Amino acid sequence: MQLEDKFGRRFYYLRLSITDVCNFKCEYCLPDGYESDGDRHFLTVPEIRQIAQSFSNLGTSKIRITGGEPSLRKDLPQIIETCANTPGIEHVAITTNGYKLPEHIDSWVDAGLNSMNVSIDSLDPRLFNSITGHDRLNVILKGIDRALALGIKVKVNAVLMRQFNHGELDNFLNWLKTTPVTLRMIELMQTGDNNAFFDKNHVSGEPIKQQLLESGWIPKIREKTAGPAQEFYHPDYKGSIGLIMPYSKDFCSSCNRLRITAKGKLHLCLFADQGLDIRHIIQQQDNELLENELVALLGDKEATHWLHDGITGATKHLAMLGG
Ligand code: SAM
Ligand code: SF4
Repeated sequence: MQLEDKFGRRFYYLRLSITDVCNFKCEYCLPDGYESDGDRHFLTVPEIRQIAQSFSNLGTSKIRITGGEPSLRKDLPQIIETCANTPGIEHVAITTNGYKLPEHIDSWVDAGLNSMNVSIDSLDPRLFNSITGHDRLNVILKGIDRALALGIKVKVNAVLMRQFNHGELDNFLNWLKTTPVTLRMIELMQTGDNNAFFDKNHVSGEPIKQQLLESGWIPKIREKTAGPAQEFYHPDYKGSIGLIMPYSKDFCSSCNRLRITAKGKLHLCLFADQGLDIRHIIQQQDNELLENELVALLGDKEATHWLHDGITGATKHLAMLGG
């Protein structure tokens, strides 16, 4: 059995959220900070082992650990190790806001981490502070240097926002001249909670793409299994750039990922109408049972999201799912 949907898309990539708690207050995500619904009963290590095993048996080879802020879990190294030690899982990644990164990165790499995405929406420390509520840009940049020294791949996620970082492309480009990371510029997505912010701040990535092409950036050939980012490189730069434009035509046709929330719900799309509760099945620790359920549920995956019509499904903010 394989995870393949009725449109022929294969799901070799799982985004696994391990907590929905976050300590940052990103303007587009949790502007008022994290609010608990009282239930902090997140997936345990044995549950994560079962999920990794079953997904791997169904052809998944990459797991991204996300949140909320995954580094707030004290057992994160053990979670990384559990995923990395699962036969068939070839790549373990994390998406983090990088808070305390210099303190943590060695233990994550020791546990088997292969790559890391760090969110940095501005390289101006004051602007970074006003977007996230934390004056920590320099600490995070130090953590990135350490990650590169340890030899893991680093991507930096920056969400494009008209009122904040829209004029910052040159700043980022200067940094990429000497820094071997991939900068991923992500178009702001509408979610249930950010309608007014979205209306004021959404900008298309298309003009940036044109600007890059005009200044000698070259599109990378897309591999068959590549995700939805359009990537560019430039011979004069150590870093590269990826553009993620969820509002562009055919964005969903290359979808290769499924999501599980920190409380054990399967989301077939970032903007699905509901999460499908599979925790009781995960807890039975029975490979075949879970695998049959996953394959059956995948039958309902739709061809595209409905974001163009302002339909954001059950997704109030991306901290509840992990982006
Ligand atoms: N806390 C971690 C972090 O910020 O990297 C992981 C979770 S966060 C939800 C994952 C990614 O989603 C981050 O790169 C964040 O910038 C991005 N994100 C959150 N809300 C978004 C939105 N409305 N539109 C586009 N990207 C968003
Ligand atoms: Fe937290 Fe990440 Fe959301 Fe920022 S984007 S509030 S760091 S979950």
